[in-house]
Amino acid sequence: AVQKNPHTTLVTPDAPIDAATHGGRAKCLQRLVRLDLPVPRTVSLSFEAVKRIAVGQMPDIAAVDDQFPPDALLCVRPSSEDPDWGGPGAVLNIGMNDAQYARLSERLGPRAAAALYSRFVQGYATHVARLDPDLFDSEPAEGHKGLQRMLRAYEDEADEPFPQSRTDQLSGVLRSMARAWEGTSARLLRQAKGAPADAGLGLVVQEMIPGLGQGECGSGVLQLADPVTGLPQLTGRYLSQSQGREALGAGAAALYLEKDPRGPSLEELAPEAFEALKADAALMRRRLREEMQVEFVIQDGQVHILDGVRIPRSPRAAVRIAVRLAEDGVITPQEAVMRVDPHSLNELLHRQVAPDADRDVLAAGIGASPGAATGRIVFSATAAQASAARRENCILVRRETAPEDVRGMHAAVGVLTEKGGMTSHAAVIGRGLGLPCIVGASELTFNTRDKTLRAPDGRILREGDIVTIDGSSGQVLAGEPAMLEAALDDAFQTLMGWADAARDIGIRANADTPADAQTARNFDAQGIGLCRTEHMFFEPGRLTVMREMIFADTSSGRAAVLARLLPMQREDFIQLFRIMEGSPVCIRLFDPPLHEFLPASRSGQRELAEALDLPVSDVTRRIEAMAEYNPMLGLRGVRLGVTVPEIYEMQARAIFEATIEASRSGDPVVPEIMIPLVSAKREVELIKARVDAVAAAVRSERGRNFTYRLGVMVETPRAALRAAEIAPHVSFLSFGTNDLTQMTYGLSRDDAGRFMSDYVRKGVFPEDPFHVLDIDGVGELLKLGAERGRAANPDLTVSICGEHGGNPESIAFCREAGFDYVSCSPFRVPVARLAAAQLAI
Ligand code: PEP
Ligand code: MG
Repeated sequence: AVQKNPHTTLVTPDAPIDAATHGGRAKCLQRLVRLDLPVPRTVSLSFEAVKRIAVGQMPDIAAVDDQFPPDALLCVRPSSEDPDWGGPGAVLNIGMNDAQYARLSERLGPRAAAALYSRFVQGYATHVARLDPDLFDSEPAEGHKGLQRMLRAYEDEADEPFPQSRTDQLSGVLRSMARAWEGTSARLLRQAKGAPADAGLGLVVQEMIPGLGQGECGSGVLQLADPVTGLPQLTGRYLSQSQGREALGAGAAALYLEKDPRGPSLEELAPEAFEALKADAALMRRRLREEMQVEFVIQDGQVHILDGVRIPRSPRAAVRIAVRLAEDGVITPQEAVMRVDPHSLNELLHRQVAPDADRDVLAAGIGASPGAATGRIVFSATAAQASAARRENCILVRRETAPEDVRGMHAAVGVLTEKGGMTSHAAVIGRGLGLPCIVGASELTFNTRDKTLRAPDGRILREGDIVTIDGSSGQVLAGEPAMLEAALDDAFQTLMGWADAARDIGIRANADTPADAQTARNFDAQGIGLCRTEHMFFEPGRLTVMREMIFADTSSGRAAVLARLLPMQREDFIQLFRIMEGSPVCIRLFDPPLHEFLPASRSGQRELAEALDLPVSDVTRRIEAMAEYNPMLGLRGVRLGVTVPEIYEMQARAIFEATIEASRSGDPVVPEIMIPLVSAKREVELIKARVDAVAAAVRSERGRNFTYRLGVMVETPRAALRAAEIAPHVSFLSFGTNDLTQMTYGLSRDDAGRFMSDYVRKGVFPEDPFHVLDIDGVGELLKLGAERGRAANPDLTVSICGEHGGNPESIAFCREAGFDYVSCSPFRVPVARLAAAQLAI
């Protein structure tokens, strides 16, 4: 009956078993059987069978029971589709009864036999017969007397003697495990791990190999790779005279597996069994094509394999294990690429809080730039610089950051802000610098005047106190937990090389400074997709010149200051071109509202007044006059280019002169120039005419020729809708999805952090649209814009350069939509390379 029934089937090499109907454990056991490994006899119950059992429709359990020798003990283990979804605990020693007790008393001695029987009665009474656990609660009572007491208690409570038939016991165990799976808490638990609502449970009934008795007996687990490092290393535990994984818990006096000077080992106790076990493990690795943890029992020196599970592993171990399997020819390089979760690479690229470190959490915000850093709290950019000068690590704490804080960010090892979201200033700069950053930490009370932070539990932090920020989880931690260093080792490089061979969409980096460009280069970005030129002006010496430019009243006055900025920009561009060695570099013309460069604080305004030799009141008045109600929707981007054309002209000249300079020593450079915040065709026409004129002037002055590509950054819904009339004027369109998301939702990217988590929790947005591209809305604009642009200009290059460019789900969308490349923060380039490769395989 069992063989014929696909729902209760003996696990043989060709039984109809697969993970989707019988679960992962049943499938794995069948694979082990196919490898001719010494697996105890096993019957698998399908999801369907278990579902029926839960509602009282028992299959023929006597037929299942008949598959096993009459005096064998049995165990039942869960077999869910994905082992991570868990399941009810295994039940061992089914079949224990008075006769077995007598038999085992002779073989193992009365004490061991009584302990086995009492433990089974206890488990059966509470989980199967559902009797009051208190009555069976005490540590299994000692010896024969204790056992008798427990059997009597069972009989009193259940109104019948403890079942002696193995078939009855098995029925009871199967029923209780099937029902446990249907319970509400089990359901919630597995759904939290990603299981679908209707996830099935299979059960496997296996003959027990006791692991107790004459000769060397015991049980253990063994693996051939270290789960933390992924390096080849035989690790595991073995316990003589023990029954299965359950006995191996903490505190058990396990033996070493290999010979070890510190104590006895399995290798010495049972050398042949140890060799056989190692050979079995190696065979499993090769044929199951995975690094497996082997669960085994040794009975009188003979090895039995109970199970194999994929070794749970850290992200760095995942990379090394995948690469080693491919290098050993067990899997292909493409499979290795598929086996590493791109998101998990973040943990390799940055220092992390060690997984087993104690976390004293002060508060949580939005983890906006991954990695962890420890330092002393400082409340201003100046204090950060002073701290750096003393070679002391510091965490810059601000309510939010502005351009004048960038020098402080450079000096700090991490940044913490009260306000902001994934694309606010601190977040974008932090990611660009690879600097751990938490934004929107509004749980903390920021008192920047008193220089204190108050945690929700009342603890007060002052300047100089040591904190750790974990930009991956968003947690602010007190003190200095243990850290794990970044791991860009050979295995990582090898995996990335394989990923690049498979990938079919370009990956560039957003890089603003030569240092960023070098990081981008180190991560093998195929060019710069966005250089935010204004960031070049944030350095202290330059900021003052920039401010002078903004304060110039006349066109000639402005021209004089711009002439001082020109060589600075030119020098930056030369460096970028040289670092990128002929790879494309896309430079965005000046974008932010001018007033962002002006000091907000009174002391900053005083400093500026000194530098400009003006009364402070003049400076304050000018700053007030420039204030806008809605600066992000005001005079910025191309609107500045149209109304104050000298700035773009200076930038174009710097780019072209740098092009000539950098082309002298290497391949000819073909710069890309990008116009931000366009919403109308006429804007493009005006800027194009000016840039062309500058190019002609530089060519004739220098007597040298060069080419360049002009493009538009699509950041307003209107530019996407009108792409057909914009595209004929340009070589490329690059979607700036930070602003495009902001404008499509009408949602401030700098303020959304305050309620974003509420919105996501209440299901208003499935995710933060500044983090994962909103495919339904913003995505539709991307598709429309790309289609309309390409129809009007078939040679058009289409790309994305908002923060979404580094997000695997968003990359998938862009690839589907036929984009040529994505561009993201340098530290996200490896994530993007791997994610893009997986899409192509
Ligand atoms: C964008 O808006 O998507 C973009 C890349 O530009 P920024 O973040 O500098 O506004
Ligand atoms: Mg923008």
